Amino acid sequence: GFNCGIVGLPNVGKSTLFNALTNTAKAEAANYPFCTIEPNVGIVEVPDERLYRLAELIKPKKVTPTTIEFVDIAGLVKGASKGEGLGNQFLANIRSVDAIAHVVRCFKDENVVHVEGSVDPVRDIETINYELVLKDLESVERRLEKVKKVAKSGDKKARAEVEALERIKEILERGERIRPYLGEIGEEGQKVVKELALLTAKPVMYVANVDEEGLFEDNEYVEAVKEFAKKEGAPVVKICAKIEAELAELPPQEKEEFLKELGMEEPGLNAVIREGYRLLDLITFFTAGEPEVKAWTIKRGTKAPQAAGKIHSDIERGFIRAEVIRYEDLVREGSIQACKDKGLMRLEGKDYEVQDGDVIYFRFNV
Ligand code: GDP
Repeated sequence: GFNCGIVGLPNVGKSTLFNALTNTAKAEAANYPFCTIEPNVGIVEVPDERLYRLAELIKPKKVTPTTIEFVDIAGLVKGASKGEGLGNQFLANIRSVDAIAHVVRCFKDENVVHVEGSVDPVRDIETINYELVLKDLESVERRLEKVKKVAKSGDKKARAEVEALERIKEILERGERIRPYLGEIGEEGQKVVKELALLTAKPVMYVANVDEEGLFEDNEYVEAVKEFAKKEGAPVVKICAKIEAELAELPPQEKEEFLKELGMEEPGLNAVIREGYRLLDLITFFTAGEPEVKAWTIKRGTKAPQAAGKIHSDIERGFIRAEVIRYEDLVREGSIQACKDKGLMRLEGKDYEVQDGDVIYFRFNV
């Protein structure tokens, strides 16, 4: 599956957020018999109203949302790249995630100690980012040393790589993350980034953890985070982890009431989950039959046979065609038959790029 790591300094609300996420939206472990789930990994259902609209139409026996994983990566501290705390281990955990949710403290609370002694989210972001930059610099320098030797012998490919590595090194040496420069480092640079799995090349969202008042009006801390994130082109999601944790404990009816009282349309977690989905460049297609209406996750750009392969490798192997109805058409017309009658069901072949919201029936040879 696709996953998003939750990082941040100690005591900013990471575990509170992670627990709220896994409490509310935890997918039934029994549905995932083949995954061994570690305690710091939560499989979280992606809230998608479309799934429930489809279920109302089709009235299936079962409705299954799609999921993404959140990984709680605790323990990052200043000096992590030098092995402070359990620094290296945590940095290795970050290497294995596809995207990062960087939680920053934007609330004041005398009772919650801040590791730096004061609330200053931009300083905190820079502290963590600096550790990631240092770690990347280490990876780049190590690689550079190796490839330089090969380049000396006149190897053209190695020379191109050295050039790309030097360019990346320059960015990191200025203390900057690679992500905003991905467009400027060329194909060779992007190859290097991928091979080294550079930490600062991963997409990031900043999660501003505010107190209750901060939910309704941005406080100075949130404003500072937004300004910082804007420069990087990174999204900011504002939540109150404490309230999310309370919401997560409530049964659905009471949750609705509490949300209404707070003047919120939905839990803030939904925005975190959706933004994670967007960061990973994921889209959703649906299969809709009487036994089950189900949402599936694919990377944007996935072709029909590979999308089918998410369901079963046999369907990919024996792929004949995809019968596709747009979600909007199906909801407007009210049934699959009505869509067929109006010619709104398209037959698509193996080169078809599946679109977000497609409702698909795959034909295949067994
Ligand atoms: P972590 O170290 O980043 O995982 O932080 P925790 O989730 O353990 O939170 C640290 C402390 O901050 C705990 O005592 C939480 O109850 C408290 N905390 C977390 N979120 C909030 C919040 O939104 N408001 C307030 N006032 N306290 C919070």
